[in-house]
Amino acid sequence: MTNVFITGANRGLGLEFVKQYLKLGHYVYAACRNPKQAKELHQIQNKNLEILKLDVSNTKDIQAVKSILGNKSIDILINNAGIWRGSTIGSISEKDWLESFTVNTIAPIKLAEALLDNIKLGHLKKIVSITSKMGSIDDNTSGGSYIYRSSKSALNSAMQSLRHDLFNQDIATLTLHPGWVRTDMGGPGGWIDVQESVSGMIRVINNLSLKNSGQYLDYAGKSIHW
Ligand code: NAP
Repeated sequence: MTNVFITGANRGLGLEFVKQYLKLGHYVYAACRNPKQAKELHQIQNKNLEILKLDVSNTKDIQAVKSILGNKSIDILINNAGIWRGSTIGSISEKDWLESFTVNTIAPIKLAEALLDNIKLGHLKKIVSITSKMGSIDDNTSGGSYIYRSSKSALNSAMQSLRHDLFNQDIATLTLHPGWVRTDMGGPGGWIDVQESVSGMIRVINNLSLKNSGQYLDYAGKSIHW
């Protein structure tokens, strides 16, 4: 059985990843910061679902998850949890910026670091971070969004280091843009719904191998310029 570990699994894209991977017959570790309030996760009746408490910015939570997992394997780690903090020139909050780096940039790498032994035990050995096209420096033609853009650009950069560092351990990495999706973060104006985004992303993750490790792709498998 394939074991998938998903962060930010209680709503939005994370919740849809949980639903679709369970439907595919995989075992899912659904990590979220408030399991007690994760109503939609609890409504899913499936013996292959395990809900874990994980605030990705909390080192103690990461250690607790690591000890719950013990020597269980993880085939696919999906760093999905993320935050958006608005920022326009003249009103950029340093606090918001640091918080965004903690959640969007540092946490995915620290979690991969903490769960590395579990990933090595997996047969697929894939680390996926959900980034954004807004992290593309090449694609930034409109400015603004200093905080969100830079936190995702830095995530993209860190994922490239992970790609090189883990290649010899047969671990493949992917930096994946979900499209503009109608979630709490994406808002009602998004171009696609969570079903379309996640089914596309799962196809892209299926195609991930050591041969194409380190790519920056969107949910349709299209390459994005860094
Ligand atoms: P969302 O609906 O706002 O959901 C965000 C998820 O992240 C929630 O489950 C939230 O948990 C979780 N989260 C936030 N901070 C966390 C923390 N410190 N620890 C653990 N979980 C935390 O957003 P979404 O649209 O599903 O976005 C998912 C990912 O896709 C994000 O990385 C986002 O940047 C990226 N993305 C989204 C879009 C889009 O159009 N929607 C576009 C590009 C990229 P709580 O419920 O506890 O807050």
